Amino acid sequence: MSQTRPGRGAATIQPESGYLQMTEILTNRRSALGFLGAGLLASSFAPPAFAKETAPADVEAAVNAAYAQFRTLNDGKNADYIPALAKVPSAYFGVSLTTADGKVHEVGDDDKPFSIQSISKVFTMAIVLQESGEAEIVNSVGVDATGQVFNSITAVEQYKGKEMNPLVNPGAIATTGNIKGSSPEEVWNKIITTYSAFAGRQLEVNKEVYKSESDTNQRNRAIGELMSAYGRFPMDPLVATDLYTRQCSVNVTSHDLSVMAATLAFGGRNPVTKKQVIDTKHVPGILSVMATAGLYDDSGKWLFKAGVPAKSGVGGGLIAVVPGRFGVGTFAPPLDDAGNSVRGQAAIVDIVNRLNVNPYAQFG
Ligand code: GLN
Repeated sequence: MSQTRPGRGAATIQPESGYLQMTEILTNRRSALGFLGAGLLASSFAPPAFAKETAPADVEAAVNAAYAQFRTLNDGKNADYIPALAKVPSAYFGVSLTTADGKVHEVGDDDKPFSIQSISKVFTMAIVLQESGEAEIVNSVGVDATGQVFNSITAVEQYKGKEMNPLVNPGAIATTGNIKGSSPEEVWNKIITTYSAFAGRQLEVNKEVYKSESDTNQRNRAIGELMSAYGRFPMDPLVATDLYTRQCSVNVTSHDLSVMAATLAFGGRNPVTKKQVIDTKHVPGILSVMATAGLYDDSGKWLFKAGVPAKSGVGGGLIAVVPGRFGVGTFAPPLDDAGNSVRGQAAIVDIVNRLNVNPYAQFG
């Protein structure tokens, strides 16, 4: 049996890891945390003053500084299990941040289109919350982190497709399969219309990525069938998986992502178009699942470093939301082992720290 980790992302789809290896990983993680914990306790930590507002010049400076600092960070590797993603230039780097007034502060390749991939899952979750309510999400797939890779079949088997969340593939395919509609096109129109309202412009599918992913998504089709067998959604599973694949292929830029993130940051109201896209009452639930499951099995590590809800995609995109303050969108294709953009994570952590907006670091 192979001892490599599953679908951990960047490279190829691999079988899921064995029990022994998982034990090893858990043990290593525990000792790493112990070490970090001791370090934190030993250091003298001066609580910074809570910046309730951020001057536009400071925002601009933080975006530019993060870009300059990490532009040459070359760690990670483009995803290549979807062949079209391997061809995207690895050096692309865009950083965009949208504030309450609808102003987008940005730098680098902020206008280069790329496929949204898993970041789409956030906005499909929003559709189902809006049309069917919270109970539909909680009862169909759940709102718990799996601790497994994003395309884990073990996670499905563990609780018969429940006790997971809409941000990993099984939960996401089921969430798409729970959108109401009398035909696949009607459901698709809802998806693309909602995503476009979040972005404030008409979005479109990247046809090359859609074809490339459709030709190679056997694993997702299997996951869709399995979730259907457990009765997690009513749509035909192959139709649901196809719609899911299409939603992952929608082209966005880091600019778009920052506006989409900002729409969440301002309670479902797009700060650029001023349009209310979803009801405010649904936003806290979306952000909570992003916080616990937005960066797959590295979500804990992410929250530990950044303290803000975020969502990644294997196309190299990353969004982060600072409620009431701003939304960030980044684009940098090389991914770490968990499938998260390396430069994107570094830039967002840096911006959060520079602007002092980590909610866990506010002490009065
Ligand atoms: N479309 C991709 C997949 O299903 C999305 C995964 C991701 O971005 N993590 O494999």
